[in-house]
Amino acid sequence: MTNIDFINRQIDRLRKDGKLSTEYLNFYEDILKAQFTNLRRVSQKNINRQIQSFDVQQRLSEGRPILDFEQVKLNNDFLKGLFQDLLATMERYQGENKSDIINLKSARDKYHLDLEKLVLKVVSGDQEFFQTVSAELNVKKGFLLFLARMLANPLLESYAHGLQNKISDEQWLRGYCPICGNPPGMARLEQETGKRILWCSFCNSEWAFQRIHCPFCSNKDHNRLSYFFVEEESPYRVDVCENCKKYLKTIDERRLPEKREIQMRAEDLTTCELDIAAEKEGYQNGQWWL
Ligand SMILES: [Zn+2]
Ligand SMILES: [Zn+2]
Repeated sequence: MTNIDFINRQIDRLRKDGKLSTEYLNFYEDILKAQFTNLRRVSQKNINRQIQSFDVQQRLSEGRPILDFEQVKLNNDFLKGLFQDLLATMERYQGENKSDIINLKSARDKYHLDLEKLVLKVVSGDQEFFQTVSAELNVKKGFLLFLARMLANPLLESYAHGLQNKISDEQWLRGYCPICGNPPGMARLEQETGKRILWCSFCNSEWAFQRIHCPFCSNKDHNRLSYFFVEEESPYRVDVCENCKKYLKTIDERRLPEKREIQMRAEDLTTCELDIAAEKEGYQNGQWWL
């Protein structure tokens, strides 16, 4: 599970570091706070009960992610509470999105905006749905997607928490998350073995994957797969594929100056300069919602 105290300490360190803007860090910290405060309304027991009804091994053997959205029943009190807090946070920070916030609020009050649907559609990658709703409500698509993702993250993490131990490394060597089906947000190369582990930014799951293999397009041609460092000697690098022009941020734990705890959500947050560098080189993030 994401350790909120650990991430808050990372954010404090970044504030002192001064590389990222204080406003960005404050915003992110408030979002996390809203997510974790509201998560108290959700009972892990109830989630574990739902998980028991999933046909885990059957789905895995068919290459289908474990989370069965037909059977998932998301906690509505949680969604309503978090939605309210996210809008309030955005109101405090995002001046340019004022009209989006107003339009979303009126949609919520007038039409009873279906938050559960919003979450399920973002997790299942229904891009057309967001196109349509964005036009209907007159809310920017990127804004709607961000909100949907922030609503989804903590809940999915709770489901994934109960499911992660059901998958063995050899069972799922695929380019998408075994729990929720989304493409990886980052990767790490393990300290002892150099094994490549992919990480899902949606549900915070990790799974093993081949080293010379693009998770986004399945390219295995080593001549068309490479990586670059932004800083020499750094443990951080960007893996790129010439086939699909996607990139994946990677932390090579063997290059860390000393062994330390790794929380991928914090790693993702603290490596924006890699995203910027990759985009400058003409590569795209493999996560469609960004
Ligand atoms: Zn996932
Ligand atoms: Zn590729």
